[in-house]
Amino acid sequence: MKHRLELLATFPIEIIWHENKTIYFSVKKENGIYSLRLHRLFHDAPSPVLEALLRYAVRRDKKAKAIIRQMAHLHFSRNVAEAKPLPPVGSVYDLKEVFDRLLPLVPIEGVSIGWSDRRGRGRLRSITFGTFDHHTRQIRINPILDDEQVPLYFLEYIVYHEMLHALCPSKMDGSGRCTVHSKEFREKERQFPRFVEAKVWEKGCFTFFKKRRQSGRS
Ligand SMILES: [Zn+2]
Repeated sequence: MKHRLELLATFPIEIIWHENKTIYFSVKKENGIYSLRLHRLFHDAPSPVLEALLRYAVRRDKKAKAIIRQMAHLHFSRNVAEAKPLPPVGSVYDLKEVFDRLLPLVPIEGVSIGWSDRRGRGRLRSITFGTFDHHTRQIRINPILDDEQVPLYFLEYIVYHEMLHALCPSKMDGSGRCTVHSKEFREKERQFPRFVEAKVWEKGCFTFFKKRRQSGRS
């Protein structure tokens, strides 16, 4: 059976459905046929969204792009997928304990936390200490912080920051662009009890982690 998108198109198209959430829409034109790789989220999309997909495929229309992004944003913020469970107990720090202690400051629900299984072995130019996945509502913390020489308040600050992401969802402007750290987010972040100390430690941490790595610990 033809998909509604194929019925809407006035030019030859081919659709490949997938579930890759980082590239939810891409288009290629080959031999006069538009090949659309689409995330399943668009399968039952309302017609204006399907029309936007076609407009974007042919004309790279900016307004169409905004509609597509808004649809994806809505989908991923509403549908909570199951997260692969990660261990919260490290060799030094217990993330669940940290999380529970911060919960009165950041009241959130349905969020899990664990040590990430990826350390990021590349060059130490920038380190991602934590991430929050809106899709699975999971906080992942970089295991390089599971270290007795990393002060607890710094780990707490990182966890607090990621918890705020669950509390203050990213905002979207009219062009479909996301602001991850909104003004409201930054204000709440500064309310972390040892914010200044944590920021100071963060500044010097590259040298710290470099030395730790050289000493063969990580
Ligand atoms: Zn952030």
